[in-house]
Amino acid sequence: MSILFAKNQLLDKAEDARSFKRWLYVSLVRLAFRNNFANITVNLAAGFGFVLIIWPSEEMSESFLAQWLVALSVLSLARLTHSFFVIKRLRDEPDITQAQLRPHLFLYAAGLLTAAGLWGIITASTVLAGNEESRHAALVIIPALAAGATGILASQRMIGRIYISVMLLQGSLALALAREPEHLMAVLGVIFTIVMLIAHRNNHQVLRQSFELQFRNNDLVEKLEAERSLLENLNATLEARVRQRTAELKELAAQDPLTRVLNRSGLMQWCAEQEESVSASAGFAAIFIDLDRFKQINDGLGHTVGDIVLAEVARRLNRALGPHGALGRWGGDEFVAIVRTPQERPEDWSCTLVDRMRAAVEEPIGVAGRQLQVGFSAGVAATGSDRLRVTDAIHCADLAAGDAKRKGRGVTQIYRKTLLAEQERNLALVQALKQAIANREFSVVFQPVVQAGTHAVHSHEVLLRWNNPDYGLVSPDEFIPIAEDTGEIVTIGAFVLDTALREIARTADPEGPRRLAVNVSLRQLIAPGFFEVVRSMLERHQARPEDLVLEVTESIFDTRRQSIIKAVLLELHLYGVEIHIDDFGTGYSSLSRLHEMPVQALKIDRSFVQALDSHGHAIIEGTALIARKLGIAIVAEGVETAQQVAQLEALGIDYLQGYFFGRPSPSLARPPQSKSA
Ligand code: C2E
Ligand code: CA
Ligand code: CA
Repeated sequence: MSILFAKNQLLDKAEDARSFKRWLYVSLVRLAFRNNFANITVNLAAGFGFVLIIWPSEEMSESFLAQWLVALSVLSLARLTHSFFVIKRLRDEPDITQAQLRPHLFLYAAGLLTAAGLWGIITASTVLAGNEESRHAALVIIPALAAGATGILASQRMIGRIYISVMLLQGSLALALAREPEHLMAVLGVIFTIVMLIAHRNNHQVLRQSFELQFRNNDLVEKLEAERSLLENLNATLEARVRQRTAELKELAAQDPLTRVLNRSGLMQWCAEQEESVSASAGFAAIFIDLDRFKQINDGLGHTVGDIVLAEVARRLNRALGPHGALGRWGGDEFVAIVRTPQERPEDWSCTLVDRMRAAVEEPIGVAGRQLQVGFSAGVAATGSDRLRVTDAIHCADLAAGDAKRKGRGVTQIYRKTLLAEQERNLALVQALKQAIANREFSVVFQPVVQAGTHAVHSHEVLLRWNNPDYGLVSPDEFIPIAEDTGEIVTIGAFVLDTALREIARTADPEGPRRLAVNVSLRQLIAPGFFEVVRSMLERHQARPEDLVLEVTESIFDTRRQSIIKAVLLELHLYGVEIHIDDFGTGYSSLSRLHEMPVQALKIDRSFVQALDSHGHAIIEGTALIARKLGIAIVAEGVETAQQVAQLEALGIDYLQGYFFGRPSPSLARPPQSKSA
């Protein structure tokens, strides 16, 4: 490793030395040619000056002088042209080699020495001719030219030396060989030559050193530059790689691996970024999506199928969402979409979006050779109206989705402020309900049902009352659904039956009607042993099955539990208990399937009675028509006015119930016989 390094360093040094030599050579040549202009100009000027000084001359022929001047001029012109050419070439070819320059340098030297020769000729002829004036002129001009050459020719060591020597020594030689020799002057000329040569050498050395310094400096700057850009490149690539890797990791950490949508923390991150970047006035809505009955798919078809369904649902939701926001998997079978909404009616806008999502999701999903249908309950909460943060909006949408689930699945519920309070009250009621029987908080009341026309009491409907020390009288409309949810209704239902039967056994007029109508939830009906509970209660209180009516709702037409529902209803029917369908017309449209169930009466919902003057009339009329064809009796509930009584009796309704005939009361009351239609 170190050997290789050392070798590389050596190679580097050799390379450096070579490139320095080339660079120095080129630089010196360039300088020589640049200075050549000065040299030529001075030469020419000196030549003309000299001729002017000695013109007209007695010793020298004028034609000789003229010829000499022409020769000098022609030479100077040639040298000038050549210098221009070389300077241009140096500029145009920065990579020019030493070999390419060498002939030019040769020409340069030739030009110089020819000039020196011309001066030698003129010096020799003046000195030898012995003219005082011209000799003095030559002895001033030639040393001056030589002295100038120590600087101007500093770049060329050899050529400079030769030029200076030739220029000066030919003068000295002439002085020594003259007719009247001047030996002292000749010796002085030689000494002067030596001094000039030393000066020239020194100049040359200084020049070289300065070039060397410049080269090193250039080299250093270049190397530093190279190193810096290398480092910068390295840094840049490293940074880019780190950035990319970080982004990848971030993306992975934010993604749900199964569905490839955001996970919970990814969605929260997205929200945080949006809240930072988007102005406070921009609106957001959270859409909470809870798949309906997904557990059945998971339990019934296995988790692999469940996973495929989840991934497909996520894909469809994402596509329906489009560019409006971000989708995340909240957990299990729950998804959350955060959407940017318009300022106006953000909830309505969101509900339209949910409709699109619902349509996309409800398309059958083909998996494992089956066509599965998936639906969802959704909750919507916008940030705008209550200045909610997005994270709070998710929580609110979650509450609303829970509400949607309770309201019967497959629907979208918009968050209301009261929902949170309702939720809390619900939770408290769940707890309170568990203690209600033991704490004797329940009681039953009876409301008479009368025969149409005669208005004789036919039976009593049993209605449950709950009086809680903390919450006071709680409406059955509120606590019955909770009891159904928790399953508590099974125990409570048995308690109602027991209490009502005991009460009638204790207080009823032996001659009067003993018949009771008891409300039964689907949850009770399908609970194991329901029939046994009914029978044992009747036996315990020595009541006949014919004296009991069970009011069930249209939920008995729920297709998923048909066999068990039909079985238990049939068992009750054969035993002698009557089955009535309560709140008829509000649930599944079940008229066409009425004949499948052992039902003896329909109880028209009180909303239709209240609407007798509008659409209620036609609905009741139609229902009565079909019921009569099937041999099923009709009861109207919620009858409050004499006019309603008249209208209902005109439609052929069999039994009537409502405040007009009697309010629910703790005791079995005989309705006033005088009241007739
Ligand atoms: P429902 O079975 O339809 O009971 C009739 C409801 O209408 C009763 O309300 C009764 O007080 C009310 N009502 C009677 N006549 C009139 C009238 O002329 N005008 C008006 N506006 N209302 C009248 P309540 O007692 O609050 O019961 C509400 C619901 O709670 C019942 O509706 C029933 O679905 C449920 N429920 C009550 N007791 C029981 C029970 O023991 N078991 C079950 N499973 N559900 C029960
Ligand atoms: Ca009822
Ligand atoms: Ca009812």
